[in-house]
Amino acid sequence: MTYDNNNIFAKILRKEIPCKKIYEDDFVLSFYDINPQKKIHALVIPKGSYINLDDFSENASPEEIVGLIKGVNTVAKKLGISAINGKGYRALANISEHGGQEVPHLHFHLFGGEKVGKMVSE
Ligand code: 5GP
Repeated sequence: MTYDNNNIFAKILRKEIPCKKIYEDDFVLSFYDINPQKKIHALVIPKGSYINLDDFSENASPEEIVGLIKGVNTVAKKLGISAINGKGYRALANISEHGGQEVPHLHFHLFGGEKVGKMVSE
């Protein structure tokens, strides 16, 4: 599978479509999910073109990998939901078909602001 440059998050990164930005640095962009599933539902995406977590793990540089993990923590703190300044949250990455991934650009969902509930439904 090759990276689709026209996926919706690639367009958000290129600023071709808007987003409600939460945070940005050299490695990540974070914005609110358009269809929130919890009181707080943020997305954190790497700036590089990676399809999913497996693609990222195999092909991203060590700096990009650190940047994404640090980015999740930075966003959680910014939203006041981290284990450091809040009550915690769930970070979740859907990966490919069985993972239920719809947008083929790696992203972590951050759910919080309330109890998130069961780990897996259905
Ligand atoms: P996935 O199922 O791929 O893990 O999640 C994709 C997420 O992207 C969904 O939660 C969906 O609501 C969100 N999403 C899809 N299109 C847009 C968009 O144009 N803007 C934003 N902010 N979120 C989007």
